[in-house]
Amino acid sequence: MTDTFAAGLLPEEYQDLIKSVRDFAQTVVAPVAAEHDANHTFPYKVIEGMGDMGLFGLPFPEEFGGMGGDYFALCLALEELGKIDQSVAMTLEAGVSLGAMPIYRFGNDAQKQEWLPQLTSGKALAGFGLTEPGGGSDAGATKTTARLDSEEWIINGSKQFITNTGTDISRLVTATAVTGTLEGGHKEISSILVPTGTPGYTVEPAYNKVGWNASDTHPLTFQDVRVPEENLLGERGRGYANFLQILDEGRIAISAVGAGVAQGCVDECVKYAKEREAFGKTIGRYQAIAFKIARMEVRAHVARTAYYDAAALMLAGKPFKKQASIAKIVSSEAAMDNARDATQIFGGYGFMNEYPVARHYRDSKILEIGEGTTEVQLMLIARDAGL
Ligand SMILES: Cc1cc2nc3c(=O)[nH]c(=O)nc-3n(C[C@H](O)[C@H](O)[C@H](O)COP(=O)(O)OP(=O)(O)OC[C@H]3O[C@@H](n4cnc5c(N)ncnc54)[C@H](O)[C@@H]3O)c2cc1C
Repeated sequence: MTDTFAAGLLPEEYQDLIKSVRDFAQTVVAPVAAEHDANHTFPYKVIEGMGDMGLFGLPFPEEFGGMGGDYFALCLALEELGKIDQSVAMTLEAGVSLGAMPIYRFGNDAQKQEWLPQLTSGKALAGFGLTEPGGGSDAGATKTTARLDSEEWIINGSKQFITNTGTDISRLVTATAVTGTLEGGHKEISSILVPTGTPGYTVEPAYNKVGWNASDTHPLTFQDVRVPEENLLGERGRGYANFLQILDEGRIAISAVGAGVAQGCVDECVKYAKEREAFGKTIGRYQAIAFKIARMEVRAHVARTAYYDAAALMLAGKPFKKQASIAKIVSSEAAMDNARDATQIFGGYGFMNEYPVARHYRDSKILEIGEGTTEVQLMLIARDAGL
């Protein structure tokens, strides 16, 4: 990474990555985005193409099939995809930062060897099973249990809203579960790898969502699911803490998606405002429209700067939790505000589902909810301030 935050001054390898993902997003993702959105279908060909480009392996070492890049490179790719299609961007975001990263960060050698090459190639996807029907923000309230019996974990419970778990290439979910009781009565929460197809593990039918229609999200149930003891991921009792660490990083990645959405809305509006005529001139000639677009550009710029800042700290090994929360708020609000303004600028066309701005309008709301709601980010920022 660089010590400047200016996108135009990034080192050449990052600029090259941006260029190739931008080209892919415009030529491969954009033409099929509206169709997958309308049909609620998973874009297998697009995901395969992203796998071939190495996007699922961006922040992982080559020994695990990765590209030997870093987390910032992943964020740059997510920004470019987010401009065009949030479902595709989120499949990558969840696939890498929530699916493969816990195994890379906390897995033992055997787990890394078994799972990472599949996941980094994009030929397989893993889910991150934290949220439950009774606890999303309060994820420590997990009720799913896992108990050891003859060197096997027996898992019972359910998870809710879990991404990338029901596709033809979904191979496993990493689930948090209560594995015991600590001194003082606190729950011991661990994380356990559950391969798709394990008896008793059911991926329930997909949700009917407001947006992210081409991204895969399911409830999961576990009924006397048995997996070997060695499927424990990381230290016993560290599951919750490890997942929170993954979410801290993930917030930078999801902020990059939000920055992309905000910029994508600007790009669509600049084009449209130069073409659409009303009262004898193009609407971009009216200051009311031009200023609205200028304001949108400000939001996109600030969102990008916020995630660059958090990523720079993370890569430098410095504390970045607060900056990641700030970036999450700034970029999700920028995406939401820009999508709303873009829809207004497109007039009636902005309310037609096949238009990218209409898709962004439906898709953006979840950016303020997933991977920690805005209220949770504010809680973390306030806590950092000693409140
Ligand atoms: C499409 C989609 C994909 C998802 N993918 C995944 C995934 O892959 N893996 C996964 O584990 N989860 C996933 N989630 C779940 C997501 O992270 C949660 O929905 C989110 O964290 C919020 O949790 P909740 O829905 O239980 O809301 P709740 O926690 O019930 O919150 C309800 C409201 O109360 C507010 N609130 C809660 N506590 C406080 C407080 N202390 N102070 C102030 N306000 C508070 C919240 O901000 C929110 O506004 C996904 C969700 C969706 C919709």
